[in-house]
Amino acid sequence: MTDSDSSDPAPRPADNCAPLGAKPTRVVTSSMIGIGMPDKARWSERVAVVLGLNPGVFTGPGTNTFVIGTGPRRLLLDSGQGASGYDDLLGRALREDCEGAELERIVLTHAHPDHIGGVEQVRARFGASAVAKMPLPERDLGIEVIGLADGDVVETEGATLEAIWTPGHAGDHLCFYLQEDQTLFSGDMVLGAGTTVIPPDGDLDDYLASLRRLLQLEARRIFPAHGPVIEDPRRKIGEYLAHRALRDEQILEGLRAGVTGTAQLVARIYTDVPEFLYRAAGVSVEAHLRRFEKQGRVRREETRWVLV
Ligand SMILES: [Zn+2]
Repeated sequence: MTDSDSSDPAPRPADNCAPLGAKPTRVVTSSMIGIGMPDKARWSERVAVVLGLNPGVFTGPGTNTFVIGTGPRRLLLDSGQGASGYDDLLGRALREDCEGAELERIVLTHAHPDHIGGVEQVRARFGASAVAKMPLPERDLGIEVIGLADGDVVETEGATLEAIWTPGHAGDHLCFYLQEDQTLFSGDMVLGAGTTVIPPDGDLDDYLASLRRLLQLEARRIFPAHGPVIEDPRRKIGEYLAHRALRDEQILEGLRAGVTGTAQLVARIYTDVPEFLYRAAGVSVEAHLRRFEKQGRVRREETRWVLV
């Protein structure tokens, strides 16, 4: 899932040319809207990417699913959401881009529907591969999973993946570091364009801590679950942290100015996105407000948010 920031119809590099003294309104200026991604491609000697064929407001061009390894049996990282035609496309990718390899195991970054939703479709077509993820029974759709925890390693021929627990966007979220390529599979933690959403059951504090943890890695590239390859991981993660700090500031400014409703805060802050994205923007603003509430800086009064 991505948030409305990713759907800014026109990236605004002009912010950088704002009049002296004017504050920029956003840090992340890239957008998921209009990003074209090929249905399938090879991103490294040991990684092929296959689109989930599920484009949308929250998924951008769709979920990237990855076939990983160099041997006759490979890993599938994320399964898309079961969109019609995805199984055909995956079959074509295995034949054309993966030397006719079969699937050994399905590994999932987290249980959001656009990541776990294709498991049954993939199994029906390619056989009953085991599924490995951090267990979250209430979200795992009844699928029996091999439990993964922070630091666990998933191996296949030509690829060693280390699981990194990165809660915040989702409690069960794992990123995976591919040692051979020094590449990070970031799931929904960091996206190829725009920013990620912190849903109501997510936690912004955890998310920020997870970002800082990813900053420690010596990753050379990031392969995100949505959008294109990120070639400069440190810069991108730094931008994500700065983006959240700016949103904090904008929300506090709004509250100080007497704006107390989520929708009104959204209208004040997101002046550069179309209104149909305001609901998604509200989810983001509330993630910040809940964090302020936890910190004792704001309190909720029915539908109003008030500075303490
Ligand atoms: Zn997600």
